[in-house]
Amino acid sequence: MNILIKNIRQLLQVRDTPVQKVSGREMKNLPVIENAYLYIENNTIADYGKMEDLPETKANEIIDAAGKVVMPAWCDSHTHIVYAGNREQEFVDRINGLSYEEIANRGGGILNSAKKLEETPEDDLYRQSAKRLEEVIAMGTGAIEIKSGYGLSTDAELKMLRVIRRLQTNYDIPIKATFLGAHAIPANYRNDRKGYIDLLINEMIPAIAEKGLAEYVDVFCEKGYFTTEETERILEAGKAFGLVPKIHVNQFHAIGGIQTGIKHNALSVDHLEVMRDEDIEALKGSKTMPVALPSCSYFLSIPYTPARKMIDAGLPLALATDYNPGSTPSGNMNFVVATACIKMKITPEEAINAATVNGAYAMGLSDTHGSITRGKEANLIITRDIPGYAFLPYAFGNNHIDTVLIRGKVVTP
Ligand SMILES: [Zn+2]
Repeated sequence: MNILIKNIRQLLQVRDTPVQKVSGREMKNLPVIENAYLYIENNTIADYGKMEDLPETKANEIIDAAGKVVMPAWCDSHTHIVYAGNREQEFVDRINGLSYEEIANRGGGILNSAKKLEETPEDDLYRQSAKRLEEVIAMGTGAIEIKSGYGLSTDAELKMLRVIRRLQTNYDIPIKATFLGAHAIPANYRNDRKGYIDLLINEMIPAIAEKGLAEYVDVFCEKGYFTTEETERILEAGKAFGLVPKIHVNQFHAIGGIQTGIKHNALSVDHLEVMRDEDIEALKGSKTMPVALPSCSYFLSIPYTPARKMIDAGLPLALATDYNPGSTPSGNMNFVVATACIKMKITPEEAINAATVNGAYAMGLSDTHGSITRGKEANLIITRDIPGYAFLPYAFGNNHIDTVLIRGKVVTP
């Protein structure tokens, strides 16, 4: 199937030479072709340019995008969309005054999700997760990472990762699997944290690696969860089996997790709501992508990642949803981009770079996704008729998407 999209008002994120990531001042540059065409051959971007230079094509289908913006689909590098049930009761408890930590201490939070997951048959878990995946694709997500971490036992973690594997098989978007057994200490190990960490290292990681069920290893490095020393042990064990670190750090406290991540060549360090100057310094010149999750800050009413300060210091930044039942029951990257502009004071250009090219980097997908580049997969968003791309974050909360294409196929009505 060859598709020609013509009369595009703005074709965004055009990179003739693909970039791995954009950092600091480069993030203000979002390359755009006005009045453009885009030609898709089979699954990939074959050509693009200005309408006046449109060559003869062998298109089977022509889409007229007059008045519309065409851009790479969002790259959501941090989600937990494989979960069972929901936690709206905790949401109500929080409104009534309980803190996230208090809810966790009462057996809510991650442990509540772990209990529900344990009780849910694998097919049912798959169906619930597939529904969420389809929802986020319809909202323009064209590449995604999914974590385990609501299992907290070898069997249940494997169950989650098998569900991710089934999603990878049945859907056309790239899905990266992350093992997050170190999400919390399960109730049955409350008085034996070392025992649980030994289980992670000696049983779970080898079993997962043997079946090739994950590419990344993650740890919730935070007060009350896993210390930096424990994080190091788990990352080292994962690395010995070829798993690349991608970790949760600095959400509530700065305890040195960023430095631990960088030391172990983490592909990304995610959350970063609490950033000290030394944390920003440590990230300079590293290959580790800082990832901000503004929907989580919004939902929990916690500080936003100081994105403005980080970009001004020369760092790159990626944006992701953190879609999960506890702290971010939303997988809408459009809202993430708008919230980053509104609350973190980054420009639309910076936010769109963070949610496309830098998101792709945080999933090891820079060579195939995240920009309009010849040979990259045709995972694209076509917006409705809008005046220009700044309208996307400006008119927040509205749906501006007309069509989503995944590997050159229209997936939305
Ligand atoms: Zn998370």
